Amino acid sequence: MKILGARGLVRSRFCPCYFGFKDGFRHIAVVGLGGNIGRSDKRFDKFIRVLLDDRRFHVVEVSPILVNAAFGYEDQADFSNAVINLQTSVSVYALLKILQRYELKFKRTRSFKNAPRTLDLDILYFGAKVLKSPKLTIPHPGVTTRMSVIVPMGLMRS
Ligand code: AMP
Repeated sequence: MKILGARGLVRSRFCPCYFGFKDGFRHIAVVGLGGNIGRSDKRFDKFIRVLLDDRRFHVVEVSPILVNAAFGYEDQADFSNAVINLQTSVSVYALLKILQRYELKFKRTRSFKNAPRTLDLDILYFGAKVLKSPKLTIPHPGVTTRMSVIVPMGLMRS
């Protein structure tokens, strides 16, 4: 079956990979990665390498990369999307702050809504938490509607 807008799956060094679960963490989070500037596969790998060295996290699994057409503002390059299953003991707000710092580190700039981006990081799930505040909506509103989330998540084993 052809999924509208899906261009195909791409594999890289860490997309996909599976490390399994580890004791000693309080939460499991699912984080979405997106990007459409330059080599997203290389950037995703670089980011995952950084996460593997960050003791606040344990990477359980990373999905393959789905290449798909941009939505919202459509006159831009295709997007690459993947998801990461992550164990952590930091709070959901601390996780948001950490991810926003990583976006900056990877030179994310916010020019306009749905604009091209180097690395977009979203918290898709944080355990079974349901939250709606000015800063955070958990689960992320895209989890039930966006192919860029649903397809990579469906390819995970954990
Ligand atoms: P974006 O430009 O699409 O990355 O949106 C970033 C903004 O969305 C941030 O200012 C966050 O406070 C907000 N936001 C709301 N819910 C989430 C979520 N589940 N994950 C990441 N950012 C979120």
